[in-house]
Amino acid sequence: MTAKLIKGPEVAAAIRKQIAEELPVLKEKTGEVPGLSVILIGEDPASKAYVGNKEKTSKELGFFSEVHRLPVETTQEELLALIDRLNRDEKIHGILVQLPLPGHIDEKAVLDAIAVEKDVDGFHPINVGNLMVGDDCFIPCTPHGCMKMLEYIGFDLKGKNAVVVGRSNIVGKPVSLLLLQQHATVTICHSRTTDLGAVTREADVLVVAVGKPNMITGDMIKPGAVVIDVGINRVGDKLVGDVEFESASQVASYITPVPGGVGPMTITMLMLNTLESFKRKHGLK
Ligand code: NDP
Repeated sequence: MTAKLIKGPEVAAAIRKQIAEELPVLKEKTGEVPGLSVILIGEDPASKAYVGNKEKTSKELGFFSEVHRLPVETTQEELLALIDRLNRDEKIHGILVQLPLPGHIDEKAVLDAIAVEKDVDGFHPINVGNLMVGDDCFIPCTPHGCMKMLEYIGFDLKGKNAVVVGRSNIVGKPVSLLLLQQHATVTICHSRTTDLGAVTREADVLVVAVGKPNMITGDMIKPGAVVIDVGINRVGDKLVGDVEFESASQVASYITPVPGGVGPMTITMLMLNTLESFKRKHGLK
């Protein structure tokens, strides 16, 4: 079998088109547009690139967009004061603090300070709790993107075996909860899992978020499975996923490539969450 590709840019473009079509109607109704504020501390090149892409995408969509680029020596108090101001700013519907933060700043204190109703990254403990119990919440962007990709190919998760490799708070755990909400039977694997291949070979849907290049090979995949590769790893001058594409694509029915898979979905999900926040504020949900 040669797997069909689930192309992130294609899925993301379809969602952005929906947002772009909805925006003029919302603007007409409210006299406002969704506003996203991003805070970047320091000069990390990868973080600068991510923030630049977020700014570009939100502007292209017609959102109000601002980026606070702060020096690396910014204190925690200064950052918390800025977040407090943005929490009260009527034109801002989403606040994102680009991670990682410099070592002298307590990440948890910062994420906890973002108003729950503006926490478009979905990392505030109240959002995390609401996701756990299945209440209204902002779904973290990368797991949300994975689910949209499954939706895009019309994959019905009910009764299927889903295996998630990785149990991080930003990908593995939330995507497991989302798969469970869709009535899959979910198994979560991690670094202490024994005989990983025996578990992954049971998966109708395999989501891999580890950060180890090519660790899942074709012989670890059930024929016909759908494979979502979240991993982004630099090997020499190339980006590769956690799944060995050559062998996996001979076995799977669908697979996300790296690059060009889950990566491009994440920013689009941020835009969708910001739009969602805007609608909630205006009672349009
Ligand atoms: P973390 O490092 O936070 O988590 C990695 C997880 O992998 C841990 O749960 C760890 O287990 C597990 N793990 C490590 N080694 C093994 C192993 N040998 N077998 C099974 N499980 C193992 O990573 P993230 O979740 O933040 O990111 C994972 C990958 O996804 C990275 O490549 C990252 O770059 C990428 N990513 C991509 C995004 C996108 O937009 N596409 C967004 C976010 C991340 P344990 O808990 O036991 O240590």
